[in-house]
Amino acid sequence: MNKIKLSTIRFKKSFWVYMGGAVVLIAGLIFSVIADKPDGKLHVNFYDVGQGDAILIETPKNHQILVDGGPDSKILSKLSNDLPFYDKSLDMVVITHPHADHIDGLVDVFQRYQVNEVLMTGVTYNTPDYTELFNIIKDKNILIKTAFSGQEISWGDGPKIKILEPEKSLRAQRIGNINNSSIVLKIEYENKAELLTGDFESSAQNKISYDYLTQFKANVLKVAHHGSRNGLSERFLKAVDPDYAIISVGAHNPYGHPAKDILDLLSKYTVFRTDIDGDVSTSIDNAGKLEVSSQK
Ligand SMILES: [Zn+2]
Repeated sequence: MNKIKLSTIRFKKSFWVYMGGAVVLIAGLIFSVIADKPDGKLHVNFYDVGQGDAILIETPKNHQILVDGGPDSKILSKLSNDLPFYDKSLDMVVITHPHADHIDGLVDVFQRYQVNEVLMTGVTYNTPDYTELFNIIKDKNILIKTAFSGQEISWGDGPKIKILEPEKSLRAQRIGNINNSSIVLKIEYENKAELLTGDFESSAQNKISYDYLTQFKANVLKVAHHGSRNGLSERFLKAVDPDYAIISVGAHNPYGHPAKDILDLLSKYTVFRTDIDGDVSTSIDNAGKLEVSSQK
C-alpha cells in the first residue's frame, strides 16, 4: 500500500512539474508574439521572391495588406516568417496587374490564407494563370473592389492608402500594354509616404500632368518594372524625389533588370535591391521616423 501511495505522489509531483514547464513555455510564446507586433509602427516589407514583386503592408494595429504575390510559392515562407503562426488571414490582397511575376504566388496565398477583400483593376487578360487566380477568387466569394484614382483606404489606425493609378476604371477593358494598367498606390503615415508602382512604365509616367504629379511625392519609391529600362523616367523620379529607392528584382534574371541607365539615374539616391540585399523592410513610427533595413 505504502509503495503505491509513494508512486502516486511522485506521479503527481512530476505532473505538476511538467504542467508548470508547459505554462512557462506557452506564456513565453505568447509574450514573444505580443512583444513582436503590433508595435505601433507601419511596416512595409519588400520581399525577395526572385524575379517579381511581393510587398506586405502591416498597419500599426496589424491590418495586413499584400500587394502582389511574386512568381511562385516563395511568398508563403515570407508571410509565415512575418505573421504570427496562428494568423492565417489577410485584410486585403492588391493585384497591381495580371502578369505572372506578380500573381502566380497568389494562388498559394488564397489557398492558405483567408482573404477578406481583393483590390484589382478588372482588366480583361486571358492567360491560364490569371484565369485560374480569378476563378479561385470567385469560388471563394471574396469581395472584389475595382481600383481607380481618388479612392482612399484606411483601417482607422493611422495610415491611408491612396490609389493614384489607374486614372479611371479599367474594368472589362483590353489594354495594349498591360504594365501601364498597374495600380499605383501611395501609403501615407505621419507625414511620410511610400509609393508602390507595380510595373507602371515610363511611357505612362510621362503622361501624368504636372499638377497631378505632385501627388506622387514620397520618401520611399518602389521602382517600377523591376528597374527595367522603361521603368523610370527622369521627370517622374524628380517628382517623387525619394529618400530611398527599392528595386524588386531576381538575381541573374534573363531580362537584364535592373538596367544600367536606371541605376545611373538613381546614383544619388540610396538604393536597395532585393537580388543583392534580400528582403527590404521599412517602418514608420508614430513620430514619423522612417527606417529602412535589409536582410539576406
Ligand atoms: Zn513585373
